[in-house]
Amino acid sequence: MNWITNYVRPTINSLFSRREVPENLWSKCPECGTMLFHRELTDNLQVCTNCNHHMAISPRERFKALFDGGVFGEVSVPEPVVDPLQFRDQKKYPERLRGAQKATGEKEAMLVAEGELGRMTVVAAAQDFSFMAGSMGMYVGNALIAAAERAIAHKAPLVVFSAAGGARMQEGILSLMQMPRTTVAIQMLKEAGLPYVCVLTHPTTGGVTASYAMLGDVQIAEPNALICFAGPRVIEQTIREKLPEGFQRAEYLLDHGMLDRVTNRKDMRDELITILRMLSGLPPAVAGDLPAPDAETLAPVPADAQTTGEPQS
Ligand SMILES: [Zn+2]
Repeated sequence: MNWITNYVRPTINSLFSRREVPENLWSKCPECGTMLFHRELTDNLQVCTNCNHHMAISPRERFKALFDGGVFGEVSVPEPVVDPLQFRDQKKYPERLRGAQKATGEKEAMLVAEGELGRMTVVAAAQDFSFMAGSMGMYVGNALIAAAERAIAHKAPLVVFSAAGGARMQEGILSLMQMPRTTVAIQMLKEAGLPYVCVLTHPTTGGVTASYAMLGDVQIAEPNALICFAGPRVIEQTIREKLPEGFQRAEYLLDHGMLDRVTNRKDMRDELITILRMLSGLPPAVAGDLPAPDAETLAPVPADAQTTGEPQS
């Protein structure tokens, strides 16, 4: 044949068909095994429609669901030195970083954003568990400090969504140094009298639990999230005893006074609006859409009605 049928047509076909048919139309709920249509799952914020199991959600998706109209601006984070220890396990650390960047499409394990939440300016930071287990290294430390500084500069509350396997071992002591650094950043926020709310998502462990994730004025968790310093397996091996059912899960911690609330992801936005307004001393948010004002209410109010507060007839 000619080069059109052999080369041009297959190239065009592959260009067009690639986008139209996504590979994974269905995902399986790891908890109850139900097959979930991916669009349905996205609409439901990655929560199983059958058993309410909360799956991981990317920081970007979470911010889209959180901020008014899904609009937010990213807050830039100062870049730390990459791989100062020249760490290597099976792979070199920069190689691991590049792999995670390619897989997630994000620069690092924390995303900081600013936007309106219930018409109130709010700074939010979210950790990405799919990026090297959301581990806290120098970048995450810088991100949290940038978030706190931005919140102070704009006199805005800060909300942090945590998800972490702990400190990033590839950065050794430098990752552990992020615990005091982030603690100081949160202290700065508190000295400025600004609200700080932690939303703990599955799983929040290690050095993150031991620093900024537990310092909130209000501690919220998503259902069934694992929240701990050392994981249940490690504790079981150490004390050689069987741990109680649901140990270190959100509901257990709520019962034992470690948390203030356990909130479903779909209710999180409304709940944050209520809590942040309360902590900021603002009147409660108006729920629902108000009808458009008509001509009568827009008419100028006479001077005497203004002083007495009498309704106009
Ligand atoms: Zn399920």
